[in-house]
Amino acid sequence: MTDDPGRAEERAFTAEVQQILHLMIHSLYSRREVFLRELISNASDALDTVRFLSLTQTDLRTEGEPAIDIAIDAEAGTLSVSDNGIGMTRAEVVDNIGTIARSGSAALLRRLREEGEKSAPELIGQFGVGFYSSFMVADRVELETLSARPGAEPVVWSSDGTGRYTLRPGGRRVPGTTVTLHLKQDARDLLNEARIEQVVREYSNYVKWPIRLKGRQLNQGTALWTRRPQEVSDEEHRRFYQELVGGTPDEEPLSRVHLQMDAPYQFQAIVYIPRRPPFDMLFDQVRRRGMQLYVKRVFILDHAEELLPPYLRFLRGVVDSDDLPLNVSREVLQKNPIISTIQRQLVKKTLEELGRLKNEKREDYILFWQQFGVILKEGIFLDASQRERLAELALFQSLRTPPGQFLSLSEYVAAMPEGQKEIYYLTGPSREALVNSPLVEALVRRGLDVLLLVDPVDEFVVQVLTEFSGRKLRSLAKEGLELPPLAGETPTPSSTEADKELAGLLAYLRLRFQDHIQEVRLSQRLEQSPCCLVSAEGDLGRRMEEILARANRKVIPARPILELNPNSGLVRGVARRVAECPKEETTGELCDLLLDLAYLGEGQVRRPGPLLAQLARLLEPAVR
Ligand code: ADP
Repeated sequence: MTDDPGRAEERAFTAEVQQILHLMIHSLYSRREVFLRELISNASDALDTVRFLSLTQTDLRTEGEPAIDIAIDAEAGTLSVSDNGIGMTRAEVVDNIGTIARSGSAALLRRLREEGEKSAPELIGQFGVGFYSSFMVADRVELETLSARPGAEPVVWSSDGTGRYTLRPGGRRVPGTTVTLHLKQDARDLLNEARIEQVVREYSNYVKWPIRLKGRQLNQGTALWTRRPQEVSDEEHRRFYQELVGGTPDEEPLSRVHLQMDAPYQFQAIVYIPRRPPFDMLFDQVRRRGMQLYVKRVFILDHAEELLPPYLRFLRGVVDSDDLPLNVSREVLQKNPIISTIQRQLVKKTLEELGRLKNEKREDYILFWQQFGVILKEGIFLDASQRERLAELALFQSLRTPPGQFLSLSEYVAAMPEGQKEIYYLTGPSREALVNSPLVEALVRRGLDVLLLVDPVDEFVVQVLTEFSGRKLRSLAKEGLELPPLAGETPTPSSTEADKELAGLLAYLRLRFQDHIQEVRLSQRLEQSPCCLVSAEGDLGRRMEEILARANRKVIPARPILELNPNSGLVRGVARRVAECPKEETTGELCDLLLDLAYLGEGQVRRPGPLLAQLARLLEPAVR
């Protein structure tokens, strides 16, 4: 029986653990002292866990005030970290310490495989690898633990980190865990009290349980969010943020909201607006820490998604409420009125803060927007109650914005020349594709700006955001575009003969393309290009169809509308051919070519083979 507590046994680590250990032992990572943060954090979690479980399980054994004690023994060359937390049973030790449960370690290994051993030090710094990091400074590690569960027996785990570990019965009486490190020769600086104090302050200052060395508390401990907002310094916030999201020590939030409310419900919260994707975003949904929920300073759960709407999922922080029950579960959270009130407040305050950043710290806001704008924009169609506010926060590229610069909708409106009634936009895969689209020609000519919507999410945004501050949003890719007349331009007088020919062409094309095209008409929106495709007013639009198809949604593509430029020499020429020799094969081919060109304007090639052959044939005379 593996679980027989009286038995001593030797076991091998799993292959992944061996890899991690090998890495730890041989790594040249310069901040080796982070191992202490990892041990303290495990101890702190163990204290949280036992306190939390005690709320519902009355038979758990706890002894003494919760605390984390560090001890150094210079003579023996050992450093130990003890807690009186939940402890582990023998089976739990095997599961937790002998195998890899942490997604952090798994992610580290994956990255290591991708980037090679050379990047190990840097990756260790980024990932933080828990208990195993002890082997950076120790050549033997012992863990003695007694589970707080009734009837548990103490067990000692021990290993030199090279492949195997032993388990044997222990003598511990008080539930909890002690990890003892036999320090390597070159890590003996850690036997110094001042050095330990410095490391604890640097990495674990806000751990809420007392961290003691010889009975003296080293950490500050007070929960940051309970202090008066104006009394918490930027530096304290930076460190706290780092604790929340992990990652490198230079990880710094862009801004924060520190809220303390008493009515209608009491709660305190700190929400950080990240500068770049929080480190834990690398992890899967389950392991990601996200927002943390506390009740009366007791940690309840991580990734408390209910605290924020999905479109703010990049925010990190804590919420602590005295009004929630301590045994609150995830299911309860989902329909709890206190939680919805808290969520509303958090949304309101963070959007206000984002608005402030947008107006007062534009460069920072642009960086933020480039990282998180696509997520925030989801809110425009998901949350009707915040639509206006979110639309106001959105930034877009336009024909006029230089690369890396953006325009908000109100800035676009403010710059509209007299006579422009609507907000013009075009959606597409890239700025490059859009500025070169035939659809913008006439607007460029008239000096009108066009918003270039290049994120797939924009398609959803414009489905619901049909108006902004009283102006309609108008897609250039849809029919029915009416542009202000060009100043000083008199339309080219067209002979009735040419008009007749064009009408003939329209009729001819309607018939020829009836399976592909729902309508063929003359267009005012083209300058250079002979033709283009647009969608009918009520249709989803071609890009939206593409996006939905890629998401495996069933969509029946609507047939586009073909618009012809009546001033194009090519169009007029083809019209003459149709009038003169409608039956000739080359006439039909030229018409096909017109349709191909319309697709080409969208960056699409409808029928590559025949088009290539035909173009080659047509070009030949030009090079003779
Ligand atoms: P992580 O803490 O990120 O899960 P670790 O490798 O540091 O990864 O620890 C693995 C597991 O071992 C922890 O999740 C926890 O279940 C258990 N553990 C580690 N230290 C302690 C401790 N002091 N008390 C109780 N359990 C612990």
